[in-house]
Amino acid sequence: MLTDQQILRIPGPSPIPPSVARAMSQPMIGHRGQSTSDMIADIRPKLKRVFGTEQEVMILTGSGTAGLETAVVNTVAPGEEVAVIVTGAFGDRFVKICKAYELETHVLQVEWGKALDPAKVKAFLKDHGSINAVFATYCETSTGVLNPVEELARAVREVSDALVIVDGVSCVAGVETRMDDWGIDVMVTGSQKAFMLPAGLAFIAASERAWKKIEANPQPRFYLDLIKHRDNIEKDTTPFTPALSILFGLQQVLELLEEEGLEQVYARHDLMMKMTRAAFKAHGIPLLTEDAAASPTVTAVRPDDFDPEAFRKVMKKEFAMELAGGQQELAKKIFRIGHMGYCSPADMLQAIAAMEIGIIKSGKDIELGKGLGAAQKIYLSEGETQNDL
Ligand SMILES: *Cc1c(COP(=O)(O)O)cnc(C)c1O
Repeated sequence: MLTDQQILRIPGPSPIPPSVARAMSQPMIGHRGQSTSDMIADIRPKLKRVFGTEQEVMILTGSGTAGLETAVVNTVAPGEEVAVIVTGAFGDRFVKICKAYELETHVLQVEWGKALDPAKVKAFLKDHGSINAVFATYCETSTGVLNPVEELARAVREVSDALVIVDGVSCVAGVETRMDDWGIDVMVTGSQKAFMLPAGLAFIAASERAWKKIEANPQPRFYLDLIKHRDNIEKDTTPFTPALSILFGLQQVLELLEEEGLEQVYARHDLMMKMTRAAFKAHGIPLLTEDAAASPTVTAVRPDDFDPEAFRKVMKKEFAMELAGGQQELAKKIFRIGHMGYCSPADMLQAIAAMEIGIIKSGKDIELGKGLGAAQKIYLSEGETQNDL
């Protein structure tokens, strides 16, 4: 086996494009100099397009969770009531952050593997009259569900003035995000998932409604104070030293996204999801989520007659291919395949072909090539080249 090859098929961190790795190896520069300002000026409009917003997208140095905590401390005042819609481990993270700030936290628990139901959220908000903010997860990475956040925002608006705050860490830049059109008040994401960068940056944008709340919010905060970040980014700078190497990379990532075209980027993710799902369906191996709830960035598989942990070990040993396991209540019950960011349909054909061998080596007798064939057929009918033939 090649000793320095790693095939990273987990839902973050995700592989880094060579041109991005090269951009990140540039010599260090001063963060108060003109080159940094020029770089931020170049990044700002492109980042807004990815978020689907006219508002500023603030760049914080920290992992995705720093972005989630920033959303909580800026938008909710001490003692206020919030609702968190939990569809998996990352919804649960919002609960933990809200509780850490001693907010009165009402949890709407959704069965893991299912998407949130906007009608149920509406009913929940009617039962809890004084909710100030509703927290939800766009792609619930722990289950591979893509929650209907547009419908969620509409439903919340119909019954409440609560802010709609969305964790988009594992899908923004891989799936369509139209924050302004959809009425999402705060959108958060991070650098190491669909953004094809190392961990270390969090991106966050807020609506006009959210800014009013943020400006009036007495909640103490310093590093994570969005007002500081906004005042600085408007001048093409950041309040504190940013992770400059990752910013070099971000500039190149945004270039790549524009070159491919955001619509194409989203179509590619959708195609990879369909190929992956078709492969497991062809073998009769159960997927955790239904088609309608499935995320284009990560697929969770719930085998009923082989051990997902043993299978992951085989994949690592045979092919240096890393797949993710289950988290919390899904631990040891599922495995997850990341197909986001720097990942192509060709990569998925490789992954599917290798996984078929891995499944056999884990003790389940399947017909080799059956899943691969199903994925190939999806590619032929929906893949990118068909229009060019
Ligand atoms: C990865 C992830 C996070 C952030 O995790 P960090 O380890 O703090 O970067 C948050 N939410 C979701 C949905 C994620 O997938």
